[in-house]
Amino acid sequence: MHGLMQHRPLTIPTLLSRVETNFGHKRVITGETTSTWSDVAPRVRRLARVLDHLDVPVGACVGTFAWNSQRHLELYLGIPSSGRILHTINHRLYGEQVTFIVNDAADDVLFVDRTILPVVWPLVSSFASVRYVVVLDDGGDFPLPDDPRVLDYEDLLAQQSGDPLDFAVDDENAAASLCYTSGTTGNPKGVLYSHRSVVLHSLLLLGADVFALSERDVVAPIVPMFHVNAWGLPYAAMQCGADLVLPGPATSPEELVTLLSRHRVTFSAAVATVWRDLIPVLADHDLGSLRHIACGGGAVDDALSSAYERIIGIPLTNAWGMTETSPVVTSSRLATHHAGLTGEDRRLLLGSPGPAVPLTEMRVVADDGTLQPRDGSTPGELQVAGATIASAYFGADSGADSFTTDGWLRTGDVATIDEWGYLRIVDRTKDLVKSGGEWISSVALENAIMADPRVREAAVIGIADPRWGERPVACVVPAAGTHLTGDDVRAHLRGRVASWWIPERIELLDEIPKTATGKWSKQTLRQQLGARRAD
Ligand code: ADP
Repeated sequence: MHGLMQHRPLTIPTLLSRVETNFGHKRVITGETTSTWSDVAPRVRRLARVLDHLDVPVGACVGTFAWNSQRHLELYLGIPSSGRILHTINHRLYGEQVTFIVNDAADDVLFVDRTILPVVWPLVSSFASVRYVVVLDDGGDFPLPDDPRVLDYEDLLAQQSGDPLDFAVDDENAAASLCYTSGTTGNPKGVLYSHRSVVLHSLLLLGADVFALSERDVVAPIVPMFHVNAWGLPYAAMQCGADLVLPGPATSPEELVTLLSRHRVTFSAAVATVWRDLIPVLADHDLGSLRHIACGGGAVDDALSSAYERIIGIPLTNAWGMTETSPVVTSSRLATHHAGLTGEDRRLLLGSPGPAVPLTEMRVVADDGTLQPRDGSTPGELQVAGATIASAYFGADSGADSFTTDGWLRTGDVATIDEWGYLRIVDRTKDLVKSGGEWISSVALENAIMADPRVREAAVIGIADPRWGERPVACVVPAAGTHLTGDDVRAHLRGRVASWWIPERIELLDEIPKTATGKWSKQTLRQQLGARRAD
C-alpha cells in the first residue's frame, strides 16, 4: 500500500517560487550591487523566455562561463526551471579540455562573463554545437566580437516579459545541471545532477549539524559557481532565505575580505588555498559577524586553522566531497563525546572531514573487497552511496569501473572511519595532483612532457606545498645522449598545458623506479625525492 501523501516533484522551480513568495525582500549582492529576490525572479522568467526565443531545445545543455554573480544565479534558476540543463564550465582549464567539455555536452548556447571572454572567444571556432554566445557584461573591456552569434544578455532580457510563467518540470529525476570532473586518465567526465538531487542536497546543507543555514544568515560562497555548483550553497540559501553575497570578478584577498566585512557575512566557504591567501589582510577588517567558515576540497592544516582562531576567533571547519557527490558528504562537527576537546585537538577534529551528512552513507573497503572495521585505524578505499551521489557518468564513457556492483561510488580516496562514524582521508589512489583546489592530471602532464623527443620517460607525483596544498613534481629521464635541463622541460610545456600545471620542481633521473608489474612506482619516487635536489 502506498502512503497517502501528495506527490510533489522536488524541482528547482520550487526554489524560485519559494524565494519569490517568502523572501522577496532578501538580498542578492554582487560586489557593490545589491538586488533582492523580487528583482531577480522576473529576470529569471525573462531569461527562460530568451531561451525559448533562441529556440534552445528542452533537454539541451546551456553552458556558462561566469564568476559568482547575480546573473550566474539567474542562469542557475532559469536554465533548469525551463527544462534545459545548466552546464557550468571552469574557464581555468586548459583550452583543449574546455573544447572537449563543451563538445561532449553539445552545448547549444553559451553565457559568458565579459571578463572571461578573452579566454573563451579564441576557442569558439572549436565548439561544434554552439549557436550563440551571450555576453554578460560584468565590466570587462574585451572588445565585443563583430559576429552574428554574439548577443548581449541585458538586450535579450529587455526584449522579454518577466510576467508569471508556468515552469513545468514534472519529473524530479530529469537532468538539471552538469559539471565535469578531471579524469585520472583520458578526458574529463560529466556528472549529471537531477532536480531531485539538487533539491535534496540544498536541504541537507541546512542541517544543524551540517552548515546550520537559516534565514538569519548572510551566506558568501567564495568557492566558484563553476565548481560543483558552489557546493550547492546558492540553492541552500534559497531554501532558507539567507542573504547571498557574491564576489563577482573581484577575487583578490583584499576585495574578498572587504566583502565579508562590509556585508556582515555569517557563513562562507572556500578551499584552503583561498583561506590561506586571506590571512595577511584579516586583521585589517571587522569579521566579527562570521560564525562558520567552511573549508572543503582538501585537508585543513593546523597552522591555517589556528591563524583564523587567533585573528577572528573561530577555527575553520572541514567538509569532504567530490563533484560526483553534489558535493557535500561529510561536515566536521563536535559531538557530545568531544565535549572536553580544546585547543589544537579541537581544531584538528574540526579540520578533518567529520561524519556523513543525512541521506549519505560511507564505507571503507579493503583491496579484497571486505569491509574494514570502523576503528579509526584500518584504512581502505572510501566508497559512498546516497540520493545525492552519481550512479554513472554522463556521455559515452559511463565510468563503470568507478562504481561497485552494488551501486556505491568508488572515490579513489584511501580513508579510515572511526567508531563514531568520523572520516579521515589518509591517501589517494587516483593519479591526480590537487593544486589550489583544482586538479592536475599526472598522466596528462606526463604525456605532455613525453611528447618532447628529448625525453625518454616522465613520471609526475604530487608533493605537499604550504601554499597550494600540493604541487606536481616531474621526474624526467632524458633520451640517450641528450642534454636536458628543467628549464627546457618547462619551455616545452609552455602552451601545451595550463600555465599553473607547469612544475616548479623538475628532477632529472637516470631511470624511473618500477613496480613488479613494470608500472612506475610513485611510492618509491616519493621516498627518493626527499633525498634529491631539484633542478
Ligand atoms: P571538490 O574539490 O569540490 O571536493 P573534486 O571532485 O574536484 O571536488 O575533488 C574531490 C576530491 O578532493 C576527493 O576525492 C578528495 O581526494 C579530495 N578532497 C575533497 N574534500 C577533501 C577533504 N575534506 N579532505 C581531504 N581531501 C578531500
